Amino acid sequence: MRVAVIGGGVVGVCTAYYLAEAGHEVTVFERYGNVAQEASFGNLDLMGPASLRPWALPGTPSRIFSMLFRPESPVAFSAQFEPAMWRWIRRWVKECQLERFSHNQRHLHRLAAYSTGLMTELAQTHQLDFQQRSGVMVMFRTARDLQQAQPILEMLGQFGSEHELLEAQTARELEPALANAAPFHAALYIPADKVGNCPLFVRQVKTLAQNRGVEFQFNQEVQSIAPELGGVSFQVDGRSIDVDAVVVAAGSDSARLLKPIGVGMPLYPVKVYSASTAIQEFDLAPQTAVFDDTYRVAMTRLGNRIRLAGCAEMGSSTVNLHRKAISTMVKVADDWFPNAANYRTANFWCGPAGMLPEGVPLLGPTKFGNVFVNAGHGSGAWAMATGSGKLVADMVSGQTPDIDAEGLTLARYGERSFQ
Ligand SMILES: Cc1cc2nc3c(=O)[nH]c(=O)nc-3n(C[C@H](O)[C@H](O)[C@H](O)COP(=O)(O)OP(=O)(O)OC[C@H]3O[C@@H](n4cnc5c(N)ncnc54)[C@H](O)[C@@H]3O)c2cc1C
Repeated sequence: MRVAVIGGGVVGVCTAYYLAEAGHEVTVFERYGNVAQEASFGNLDLMGPASLRPWALPGTPSRIFSMLFRPESPVAFSAQFEPAMWRWIRRWVKECQLERFSHNQRHLHRLAAYSTGLMTELAQTHQLDFQQRSGVMVMFRTARDLQQAQPILEMLGQFGSEHELLEAQTARELEPALANAAPFHAALYIPADKVGNCPLFVRQVKTLAQNRGVEFQFNQEVQSIAPELGGVSFQVDGRSIDVDAVVVAAGSDSARLLKPIGVGMPLYPVKVYSASTAIQEFDLAPQTAVFDDTYRVAMTRLGNRIRLAGCAEMGSSTVNLHRKAISTMVKVADDWFPNAANYRTANFWCGPAGMLPEGVPLLGPTKFGNVFVNAGHGSGAWAMATGSGKLVADMVSGQTPDIDAEGLTLARYGERSFQ
């Protein structure tokens, strides 16, 4: 079949790779000049899956709202009266209830476990080197923060993910560069979780895909999609292109492309921040990845640089940097590794990540048999990209996926509309 993939982020590129493996003639359409230019570019590089912190977690709404008026907080708001934003928040608050959280986590873990296996296989088979390292530490500043993370700890136990709760002293032995004054109660150590360079990984998978015949068309923005009997056509920069099937993997833009053909999903573009700065004192820089659970900012060492990411901004679609997000990231870095680098002169970046209130991505067919979706991975796409790509490729090919797709498809919304 001739299959078009819209979007050259980690999700689109992995999907294209597995589609080509299945024998399809695949073309990727990407509006920028290369792969991994949007959310996959800003990615902090946590490959998860156990260390990724879902936004839809019990206790998170009250914690976020209580910090909202402080100079530093995990979320900043730019627009106060945007109806789409408030609709999304209302749905997200419901998904933070314990029962919904457990339900969503079951689907996420199934997909993440499948993905981790595929990712390991891909990296070993093709000897990919994208600066992978193991070990992630989640820091709890207070006993209350640790208490709020109980549902996560229970899930890790339930799914057999190796993890260890460390007292502050033991955490310091594992990560000796932590500042003496760093304010924390305990740390969760996840030894098997990995960190790596996401854009580098995407470029390597792109090469593997090209070797299997995938064509990449860059600087090509898809304007609209028109499903037809037995095929689908779409408009790219004034041209009309006909294919047998299309996979929409356009990140935060996926909902905008699908809405005109009557496919609704509660996807909201949340702006997420990252920063990169040169290490000045190597002995005082993190050895691996550290995630501040209170401010939802993570730090890691990548070569001779420190990367920071986190902080969500809602209600803005511009590339302007929000002052609160910057001061939150600088505060977190200063609290944990104050003398490793000068964070005030870091290169700050922000970009949209397409978030669903429940945090579980949407994979597979739409109501049109030849239009498929692979979107809504929110803050954890990298942990799920290979699994999502293979699962969608299997569905496009008419094959039974290797894992149960229940809860991962649009069917979970029934006939409801989100327009
Ligand atoms: C700052 C930050 C830190 C993060 N940290 C982590 C992390 O540590 N671990 C993790 O797992 N996840 C993390 N995430 C989330 C993760 O990066 C995203 O979930 C993931 O990159 C989404 O991949 P994607 O391919 O769906 O989207 P994107 O990478 O955004 O790719 C979508 C692509 O589609 C293209 N596109 C959109 N519309 C069109 C169109 N009409 N025509 C043509 N092309 C189009 C865009 O240009 C873009 O290149 C982070 C996200 C951000 C922003």
